[in-house]
Amino acid sequence: MNELHLSLNIDGLPLFKSSKVTLWPVLGRIINLEPEIVFPIAITCGSSKPQCLEFLKETVDELKILMQNGLLIGDKAYSIILSCIVCDAPAKSMVKAIKNHTGYSSCDRCVIRGRSVHRRMTLADCTTLPLRTASSFRAQTDPEHHRGYSPFCDLQVDMVNYMHCVCLGVMRRLLLRWIRGEKSTTKHVPLKRPSLSAHQVQIIGERLLALKTHLPKIFARKPRSLVEVDRWKATEFRVSKHVTEQLAEFAHKLLTSFVKKSSELYGELFPVYNVHMLLHLSKDAITFGGLDKCSAFRFENYMQQILKNVRSGKNLLSQVVRRHKESVSMPIVNDQQSVKKFTSERPNNSYILENGHCCEILEVLDDSIAPNLKCQVFTSKYPLFQSPCTSNLIGAYTTSLTVAIIKRIPSSYIASTAILLELANGKIVFLGIAHEFFY
Ligand SMILES: [Zn+2]
Repeated sequence: MNELHLSLNIDGLPLFKSSKVTLWPVLGRIINLEPEIVFPIAITCGSSKPQCLEFLKETVDELKILMQNGLLIGDKAYSIILSCIVCDAPAKSMVKAIKNHTGYSSCDRCVIRGRSVHRRMTLADCTTLPLRTASSFRAQTDPEHHRGYSPFCDLQVDMVNYMHCVCLGVMRRLLLRWIRGEKSTTKHVPLKRPSLSAHQVQIIGERLLALKTHLPKIFARKPRSLVEVDRWKATEFRVSKHVTEQLAEFAHKLLTSFVKKSSELYGELFPVYNVHMLLHLSKDAITFGGLDKCSAFRFENYMQQILKNVRSGKNLLSQVVRRHKESVSMPIVNDQQSVKKFTSERPNNSYILENGHCCEILEVLDDSIAPNLKCQVFTSKYPLFQSPCTSNLIGAYTTSLTVAIIKRIPSSYIASTAILLELANGKIVFLGIAHEFFY
């Protein structure tokens, strides 16, 4: 590996409920190096949102030098590639000096122009619109899109955020719309009743809770009832497998169909900025090798650590820097990605093997780093569903004990973790998991 692919995160971190004091950390992570570790690059503190982009200047200047000259670590030289900057919509508007997400020309990917409906900005057009390019951005060819000059103009980089746009944006809004409906905002917009009855909400909530004991420990948060939806975190809305290159084209068709039909299903106020950004999601998955690589989950995790480490309102920046120095002087304890510990206990013993077979570990045969395993291997499997696509595409299968054989296999044959569910009819369901879940 001679390249280091850097992802940056720029976001505000309010420190106290009683004051407006906010930290603005610039965080980094190398996305092609395991384990991925988040590190601070610069931190600014103030009682309001930064009024100008001066606080980013040193970071951008250093980045330009690194990208031009590379980085020497020991006697090995690395090229630095700035892959993406992860920002929510307000931070992106600030950092890129573009119109915010409620403006007419707010999309930084394409030249869509919004339509104001009952004082809400909607972006319902699903035709293929011309994309913005680095040169059109630098030349500010669309004056409606820009608010000023951004120090990031000179760096060709995408600004993305799957976590805020999809998990906390569209998924949360849909779920609330299904269980609570939508209040009437003006006399022109009638009240929208919930799509689900109270009884259906209760049944879904009970089923979510029943899943709790079947989820392996890599799920940082176990499912909660829909009654607690206001307290759900981003990762709880993140129920789908991430979109890989093979799935991206199909996912794009489904997402386009969803955005097209969303006005009809949920009203003309529904297709706002976050909904429109779904049309650009599959391209991000291809560009970055999966949405996990361009999401804010790991950065949010680090921000929460910063928050825990601030003990008083005095000398905030020195407190943060001191805690950071203490943490880097301690040996790094790698997370679950570095050393996989195998067990024969449910729900942490189910996997998909490299040949595609599902298996359950019955016994770990030795205590080496890569042990041999006695497994129940299910030699046949069938799609869990066929519509709108075969569930094989997202690693969801059914099988049964009748096709199971006991085998000794090396742990290196294991491809991914899975969830095993036993259905009442004797069928067994395997759901392959493609990524780790973080707070
Ligand atoms: Zn767009």
